[in-house]
Amino acid sequence: MNTPLPFRIGYGYDIHPFAENRTLILGGVEIPSDKGLAGHSDADVLSHAIADAILGALGLPDIGHYFPNTDPSIKGIDSQEILARAHREIESLGYTLGNIDATVVAEAPKISPHLSAMKRRLGSTLNIAQEAIGIKATTNEGLGSIGRAEGIAAHAVCLVIKK
Ligand code: MG
Repeated sequence: MNTPLPFRIGYGYDIHPFAENRTLILGGVEIPSDKGLAGHSDADVLSHAIADAILGALGLPDIGHYFPNTDPSIKGIDSQEILARAHREIESLGYTLGNIDATVVAEAPKISPHLSAMKRRLGSTLNIAQEAIGIKATTNEGLGSIGRAEGIAAHAVCLVIKK
């Protein structure tokens, strides 16, 4: 068997549909919007994609394993708690978080004015510099469910480095 590499990449994807009477939370930041995302937690699709990227890099099961949407005790949970849990796994397996790069795909609302606040919040949860976090916002050019503004999707990759 080959020696394991001193670093590993991870990838995560998530999507949530819009729902009335919900607060829109992305990257741990409240975004002004006439509707939010549906979900068992606060439905922070970006934080979920990042958490799955981290867990994937470590070869661990996805966030549904740690935070099942059938568990009433975690209804409405702040997704920064989910991210913090993924972060603890990095440390306990002897790795450190290198960087994160993510893309939020949303037709509306406009995400770009909130990117630096999101980086600050995520950096604080994950104990890394804001400079180690990339977040892009794009639309789906009107195509498909995201293009019809029925929800928001997020993709994320991360690098973890063996200590
Ligand atoms: Mg999710």
